[in-house]
Amino acid sequence: STQIQLVNRPTGWPEPKDFSTVTVEYGDLAAGQVRVANEFISVDPYMRGRMIDTRSYIPPFQLDETMTGGAVGRVVATTVDDLPVGTLVSHMLGWRDVTQADAGEFRALPEPPTGAASSIYLGVLGMTGLTAYVGLLTIASMQPGDTVFISGAAGAVGTAAAQIARLKGAHRVIGSAGSAEKVALLTDRYGYDAAFNYKDGPVRRQLRDAAPDGIDVYFDNVGGDHLEAALDSFNDGGRAALCGAIAQYNATSRTPGPSNMANIITRGLTLRGFTIGNHFDQAGEFNREMSGWFADGKIVHDETVVTGIDNAVDAFVGLMRGENTGKMVVRTS
Ligand code: NDP
Repeated sequence: STQIQLVNRPTGWPEPKDFSTVTVEYGDLAAGQVRVANEFISVDPYMRGRMIDTRSYIPPFQLDETMTGGAVGRVVATTVDDLPVGTLVSHMLGWRDVTQADAGEFRALPEPPTGAASSIYLGVLGMTGLTAYVGLLTIASMQPGDTVFISGAAGAVGTAAAQIARLKGAHRVIGSAGSAEKVALLTDRYGYDAAFNYKDGPVRRQLRDAAPDGIDVYFDNVGGDHLEAALDSFNDGGRAALCGAIAQYNATSRTPGPSNMANIITRGLTLRGFTIGNHFDQAGEFNREMSGWFADGKIVHDETVVTGIDNAVDAFVGLMRGENTGKMVVRTS
């Protein structure tokens, strides 16, 4: 098995020297174990936080051990009846092309819908879609008629959140992303009513222009200047789901907070953070609703696919640099 290990804790942007590629030989299967050939592994922004040794909601990666993360694959050898050879499974032992572990580590999946690859279970039909759904509907309590602003709008969570907002009756959905190509896709393909490139000028001004009547909900994937702009544009009673703060994941010093926090008081705003691992109780409801929308052709799902486990680190750094549209995944072969 080819596996990627963390060998150095990065400061600032991760570099190739922080990782090493190793070959691991698995022994024969022990009773209760299965072997899985991964089809796709997920690279996600939260993994940057696991590369440093700090207190967080999920323990740091250990140095000189294979990293972990979401993956989907097929059982190629088994000792258990309920995971026969050929079963499609999802699991958290990613960053490797083949994995072998106790059956309890793996969850059997249905075959992907017609036309979709198994990577859909890392994207809109998996944790990514659930994050968008819970963040928008539970954390930010989006209501029909709300004007919604989404940062990181062309990414995996952002594209899902915009489409859910539409399907749930948002009045207007506004997005920000980091290139002209992405901004065009936001309105042409992902259902946004208005969009801007945050690199073109101050977010505060661009958001005000895109939402002259203010916003009711902010889905924050970015933090920093985006959160500050949202605080300025909020209508009374506005609600933010604080999902991510990618603008600061590679920062080497503390980043200043918004200067306009007093708006939370004067406008009666609610800002609520969440990590999706605490909301798996909504997975059943999400799966029913999202798979229905998907089957009805109401959801566009795009991904950026990097091929080869050897390119997984490049895929991860590329994700942080915005090289993806939709979900970034690594095809292992
Ligand atoms: P994305 O697919 O959105 O990829 C990350 C994107 O972030 C890039 O494509 C890039 O797009 C954008 N980006 C990078 N740097 C900056 C910057 N300085 N300012 C603005 N945008 C930037 O990743 P995900 O959809 O997987 O994750 C989106 C967010 O959601 C992340 O913050 C992540 O940590 C968070 N998250 C939180 C979860 C939770 O449980 N709370 C679960 C899953 C994700 P561009 O070209 O537009 O810059």
